[in-house]
Amino acid sequence: MSTAAPSHTFRRAIYPGSFDPITNGHIDVIERAQGLFDELIVAVAANPSKKALFTIEERCEQIRSVSASMAKPFRVVTFTGLLVEFAKREGACALIRGLRAVSDFEYEFQLALMNRSLAPEIETLFLMPKETYSYLSSSLAREVCSLGGPVGAFVPPAVEKALLERFRGGAKE
Ligand code: ADP
Repeated sequence: MSTAAPSHTFRRAIYPGSFDPITNGHIDVIERAQGLFDELIVAVAANPSKKALFTIEERCEQIRSVSASMAKPFRVVTFTGLLVEFAKREGACALIRGLRAVSDFEYEFQLALMNRSLAPEIETLFLMPKETYSYLSSSLAREVCSLGGPVGAFVPPAVEKALLERFRGGAKE
């Protein structure tokens, strides 16, 4: 009879998104996912057909500054092409997505089932953020800042600075 402890399979997950820019809602999801997996990779989609406020390099830089300030830093990478192919190359067993409200559900459900049909071995996990972030999106943060509103409660400091520079030449009012 073997006395060896049951072996633990290293579990890596990928959290993909546009992150234009990363918000406190994304960070909440990252922290929850980190508690469930051995490694979390944040994968920034290089989707040329989607018009972004920040370049992919700027978005990665902002996310790396978030990672550097966290108790458990994570890897930030960009990807093009099929997400599941990228996930397979990285040896990931799961994809993480955030669910804020019922309005997210239909699109996310479709995406998850399509990804499952493309790669049945990779599971999609949905994580709910803290309620206070359930109405927050990158596009709303961009819009509030562009209209002169404060965004310090919604985005990390590096992103607040970048948004202020983009919309108001750096002035904090
Ligand atoms: P995408 O273009 O892939 O939707 P986003 O950066 O907008 O990229 O979102 C990435 C993921 O994070 C999506 O699953 C989205 O539902 C989720 N998400 C976005 N904002 C929040 C938030 N405030 N709380 C929880 N999840 C969120």
